Amino acid sequence: MMDAISDEGFLLAVLNSTPVIDGVPTDEFADTTRTRAWLASAGGTGTDMEVRHVLEARQALQAVVRGEQSPDVLAPILQGAASIPAMTDGQITWTLSVSPERELAVRAVLTWDGLARQSPGRLRPCANDECRLFLIDHTKSNTARWCSMAVCGNRMKARRHYQRARSTRPE
Ligand SMILES: [Zn+2]
Repeated sequence: MMDAISDEGFLLAVLNSTPVIDGVPTDEFADTTRTRAWLASAGGTGTDMEVRHVLEARQALQAVVRGEQSPDVLAPILQGAASIPAMTDGQITWTLSVSPERELAVRAVLTWDGLARQSPGRLRPCANDECRLFLIDHTKSNTARWCSMAVCGNRMKARRHYQRARSTRPE
């Protein structure tokens, strides 16, 4: 179990690890040493194999959440994972059984699945098409559009204002 970071927090951090900074796509996981340390702090093993599995899961999950690929591309990530039931105090509890270096990648996919079932459409790409980030909408109205109001929200509002001003100006 991860305690340092929630499952949703981990999934979002992985999805959002390829931000566009000043118009340039970047990869926060490009530095393997730092990525290993971060994965270890998130409850992982911090091994190169784990980094590889998380990168694989990131690529597939980003494509699925963007609607570019079918969720079927997530199947290889779940390879070898099982859920083991146990009876505890009269109730059945399920424990994920998977090799340690695959666990974080599998948990990210299971968290995506939980969100897709319980809160369909709430995990989505930022509405700014120049932004590569994702958001999980926890608002009651389900109308959040930006990864961050402070960044993309204000930027897009300013752009719409500018376009309106231009379109109402006589030629
Ligand atoms: Zn954004």
